[in-house]
Amino acid sequence: MKNSKLIPLSVPNLSLTILENVRETIETGWVSTGGRFITEFEAKIAKYTGAPRAVSTQSGTAGLHLALRVLGIEPGDEVIVPSLTFIAAVNPVRYMQAEPVFMDCDDTLNMDMDKLQRFLELECDQVNGQTINRRTKRPVKAVVVVHVFGNPANMDKLMQLKEQYHLHVIEDATEALGSYYLAGRYAGQHCGTIGDIGVYSFNANKIITTGGGGMIVSPHEEYLERAAFLGVQAKTDPLYFIHDEVGYNYRMTNIQAAFGTDQIDQLERFIDAKISSYRLYQAAISDIPGLELYPFRPDTRANHWFYSLYIDEQQYGLNRDELLRQLNERHIQTRPLWGLVHKQKPYRGCLAYEIENACRFEDNLLNIPCSTSLLESELDQVVEALRTLGGTR
Ligand SMILES: *Cc1c(COP(=O)(O)O)cnc(C)c1O
Repeated sequence: MKNSKLIPLSVPNLSLTILENVRETIETGWVSTGGRFITEFEAKIAKYTGAPRAVSTQSGTAGLHLALRVLGIEPGDEVIVPSLTFIAAVNPVRYMQAEPVFMDCDDTLNMDMDKLQRFLELECDQVNGQTINRRTKRPVKAVVVVHVFGNPANMDKLMQLKEQYHLHVIEDATEALGSYYLAGRYAGQHCGTIGDIGVYSFNANKIITTGGGGMIVSPHEEYLERAAFLGVQAKTDPLYFIHDEVGYNYRMTNIQAAFGTDQIDQLERFIDAKISSYRLYQAAISDIPGLELYPFRPDTRANHWFYSLYIDEQQYGLNRDELLRQLNERHIQTRPLWGLVHKQKPYRGCLAYEIENACRFEDNLLNIPCSTSLLESELDQVVEALRTLGGTR
């Protein structure tokens, strides 16, 4: 029953046509943070997402850092962040010497906007048009919202709260390129394009990849202008090298963008593959007691980037970590949900507001193979393993 070839969790899907682009970067010598692939890739991302403009970065993390800087987050400001996320959504808050306030998730795995509202209503005061955390006396300036696993967060509600409480909204759309809303106030709009600033990532495990890289979008031209300026060492005069501010070396290289211009053309095909595998899994798993493939929001076109399996230990007979180990022995690579960020060493002692739901998911979710190149025969092997392992403790 054991297969010898590893079925990986998620691998990049790169076509050899990229070689032509890379060849051009070598022949022209445009290998660093200038060159035609960068501007082309920026234009393609803007067009695809419907954003007025996009600004490239070295990584999604760098993009989030720039976003906080552009929005004027200052040391001691509070920034609301999810606990159920990859830690890169939170670390940039600390780069700015600001204070994260951790928020719980709801059943979509995304930030619980009702709890957020409760926090703002019950724990904060409105003082001179600012929201002040009553306990810490610090201003609450922004929310970083993550569209977890490509599942669109409740932006309708968040944008209402933004208006009401004068908050900046940064969309961490690093996992959600290609996800958009089908209903509500933002019908037709892509994740990342709704808040003040949105950030995408092209790390190797994301839905398209440039090896490493990111992109910032915004409805506000001045934010993008400023992000582009700060991302190239804040050069006020490019000839005489005059700098009036501290900037960063955060722009994408032409080599990375040479991958990107090709990858973005494959994105819709990748999403089709992700959705189709997801549906096959869902149909096959639906009759295995104790397992549930976690749903994406129905009123959205989610990119279905990562699939989460929820394991009910009582019904299934194995707990999440036993299942993970057994699958691993069968050469099926899976991964537990990230450790919650508010429990990680650098963030213990930070404010965490009534985090309950996220703790339940932390122990019971498993990400299962979801590469866009996953074969149906491989998917069948995963399902077969899940079926036979149930109740085998
Ligand atoms: C991948 C990821 C990031 C960071 O993107 P990089 O390009 O790897 O720096 C940030 N937030 C979340 C939620 C991510 O999944």
